[in-house]
Amino acid sequence: MKAVIFNSGLGKRMGEYTKCGHKSMVRLLSGEAIFERQLRMLSECGITEFVITVGPFKEQLIEASRAPHLSHCNFTFVENPVYDTTNYIYSMYLARDYIDDDVIMLHGDLVFDRELLKAVLSDPQPNIATVNRKRALPEKDFKARVKDGRIQEVSISIFDPDCFAFQPMYKLDKATISAWLARVCDFVDAGNCGVYAENAMNEIFPSLDVREFSYENYFIDEIDCPEDLARVSSEIRRFDFRQQNIICGDVCGNVKNIMEKHKAVRPLVVCDAAFDKLPIAKSFADAVPNAVYFSDFSPNPLYDDAVKGVELMRKEGCDFIISVGGGSAIDTAKVIKLFSADEVCENYLENAHKFNPTVHLAIPTTAGTGSESTRYAVIYYKGEKQSVTSDSILPEYALLDPTLLKTLPLGQKKATLLDALCQAIESMWSVNSDDESAEYAAKAIELIADNYKAYIDGEEAAAQKISRAANIAGKAINITQTTAAHAMSYKITSLFGIPHGAAVALCLPHVWRLITENMDRCNDKRGASHLERVFKRLSELVGGVEGFQKIYSSLDMPSAPDCTADQLRVLVSSVNPTRLGNNPVTPTAEELEKMYRQIFSIS
Ligand code: NAD
Repeated sequence: MKAVIFNSGLGKRMGEYTKCGHKSMVRLLSGEAIFERQLRMLSECGITEFVITVGPFKEQLIEASRAPHLSHCNFTFVENPVYDTTNYIYSMYLARDYIDDDVIMLHGDLVFDRELLKAVLSDPQPNIATVNRKRALPEKDFKARVKDGRIQEVSISIFDPDCFAFQPMYKLDKATISAWLARVCDFVDAGNCGVYAENAMNEIFPSLDVREFSYENYFIDEIDCPEDLARVSSEIRRFDFRQQNIICGDVCGNVKNIMEKHKAVRPLVVCDAAFDKLPIAKSFADAVPNAVYFSDFSPNPLYDDAVKGVELMRKEGCDFIISVGGGSAIDTAKVIKLFSADEVCENYLENAHKFNPTVHLAIPTTAGTGSESTRYAVIYYKGEKQSVTSDSILPEYALLDPTLLKTLPLGQKKATLLDALCQAIESMWSVNSDDESAEYAAKAIELIADNYKAYIDGEEAAAQKISRAANIAGKAINITQTTAAHAMSYKITSLFGIPHGAAVALCLPHVWRLITENMDRCNDKRGASHLERVFKRLSELVGGVEGFQKIYSSLDMPSAPDCTADQLRVLVSSVNPTRLGNNPVTPTAEELEKMYRQIFSIS
């Protein structure tokens, strides 16, 4: 099957965006251009032959097709020299000799989710196009007239009861696309080059069998103007988050398969000293023979650690990233991926980062941070915590294997468990929460409350549940971000070396009480009644703050160390105001000091 993409349009309605760039090279929030995204997804679905019609800024599109991860694909670019005076019917006409197979055919300004593409390609019907009966009819864009599931007509000017929203993504067999091309030739030969290619198809649609493919549960939309760009960018990211590949089970077999799928041969494996203790340590080397290992980073990794990883990745020409470890290894790998797409520079943190198509497979060995499913990475620069946030650092794959938790020392096990629990609780009360995040968070809390004892006692079935809980707590904070308890914890970790999860758990009950005692200061737009519902739910799930403290006490965590007056001042001044903004009640400096005094038992 070939992919045919029409990219010869001018994109006049995009304004400033298309003055010096192609419409399809406009970047989504992830930093990836629409066209780059289409190529990546199509090639991941096994398409290797591409026919692309081009007009303005054709060199930008040709350049995008030369990305290393597409080196196994063949591209035929068909230039329409009169793109400014013809419609895409003429580009299709020019490309007719290359469209000689079954096709997946689409317009270059379409953004869609991966599952939609997979569903269209695997649909048993040979001829389909995307229709949505639930969506309001667009005024200017395509509608399809559908009779008994068969498309009869596609036009911008039909509004009858049997007409539905339509997006120009077609899967057609060779006979059907040939019939369409024959009509296109008739139109062009008659000098009719200013209409849509669909006008030609409309003459034969009723005699063909092109079925509607419903995209009600998927996302597909075109980007025509800057408003579309903003809307589509923010809508598609939620599909991308949801559709992250989460795999449970055997590490080595899955790693091999995934690398093969992506035609990767030289992965950078980011792992720390714990790697050698893991049950997979020996078999991993056999499964991934050509790996380059990077372990030159510390727990709570530093900016300089990541830069060393970037240099190694470039020097060794790595084409894939695997992180095996806790949040420190996974975050280091995320930052390496982000920085390694940038030009070499003095300070990568100051860059507006490019999208990096290198695939990252994250394999957590602590059940805590959920970093394998978040768009954040925490690193320390000159002693200060930096939260690097980018949609493009969400790992493409998360591989959960609870047997990797067997070697985790008990102290780490408890601390990371608490991290997962605190993340889920904070996500519930975050001002950014929504139904989806609340569902993830509630499930995570439930799984932890039901299984933490057995997990700490070493039961394998419980480890699987906790590993899932930590992952979905990560999915929850990926939407909501964390709140005041996390914000207060970072300096505790860097000043006293207290593990991340344990530090957060020290803060959480104090933040909990601050909120429940000051509901009248609620800064969540949904109001105090929403917060009351959240805390009622938290009572059901974990038994309220007392229930949380019961879990904490049962874990027999070390007590808080002594804290000097100077350290107290540092703690209070270190708290990131942005994170505090996610808290439904924003603590004042006095309240922060009071909470730290309670945590460290300072009178
Ligand atoms: P970690 O990765 O720092 O690991 C802690 C220790 O446990 C290390 O010494 C490590 O070698 C060891 N270890 C890990 N897995 C092991 C195993 N299976 N067997 C034996 N030893 C093992 O700890 P963590 O709590 O997973 O991660 C903490 C880091 O994650 C912090 O930097 C924190 O800021 C960050 N974090 C990131 C996110 C995110 O969304 N990116 C979320 C929360 C926390």
